[in-house]
Amino acid sequence: MTVPSAPPAQVPAQPRPATRPRRAAAQAEPSRTALVRRARRINRELAELYPDAHCELDFTSPLELLVATILSAQCTDKRVNQVTPVLFARYRSAADYAAADRDEVEKIILTTGFFRAKTTSIIGLGQALCDRFGGEVPGKLKDLVTLPGVGRKTANVVLGNAFGVPGITVDTHFGRLARRFGWTTSDDAVKVEQEVGALFPRSEWTMLSHRLIWHGRRICHSRRPACGACPLAALCPAYGEGPTDPVVAARLVKSGPFS
Ligand code: SF4
Repeated sequence: MTVPSAPPAQVPAQPRPATRPRRAAAQAEPSRTALVRRARRINRELAELYPDAHCELDFTSPLELLVATILSAQCTDKRVNQVTPVLFARYRSAADYAAADRDEVEKIILTTGFFRAKTTSIIGLGQALCDRFGGEVPGKLKDLVTLPGVGRKTANVVLGNAFGVPGITVDTHFGRLARRFGWTTSDDAVKVEQEVGALFPRSEWTMLSHRLIWHGRRICHSRRPACGACPLAALCPAYGEGPTDPVVAARLVKSGPFS
């Protein structure tokens, strides 16, 4: 006698996982080697995507770049570039800034915001350069950060773009993207600089900074990153943080130039 086999148990429908497998896999903690490999692959993809990435502030000398970078705090590069031709024509040297008339500088840089504090920084910068550096912009981080209005971010911009010394510029875009890529979890700019710097050869630092900033301005926005239109989607652990629908995402992409 054959014993009838028991009917198959009813398997209740499994709820769909909250995160898609692709994203979950990508979010798993990668090994150090995998992290470095993926980081460098992302950098290569960004290099192809933005072959012309560069500092979007206009300048012709370290002093001009230093002043422009101070002005760019809480202001767009485009706005700074509208103001600097007049400023740079009027003040050509550190001594010119040191002896500048406050009201006159304030008027010129008014539209960049925080113009009183920026005027104080620029005049103080001119005085400090004359007093301590013979009127020249120093080419070392340790000296640059002692100048009024100059923090590590500004110093690295100047080192990387005016002196050819590799530097990582941790601005709001760089920090956000570095966290989305899983290169750091820190909000502290110095820590971000150190942790990201350890993933790449020094020779890549300056261009990596430009590329991340360009991608942040164009596609990987703070509030709604255009994930569905992002060429890095397959490599990015944060894919899905913004809309993945290609049509919706395409509308979020901003085209430069931003200067
Ligand atoms: S996939 Fe989304 S989060 Fe990742 S880099 Fe692209 S836009 Fe940014």
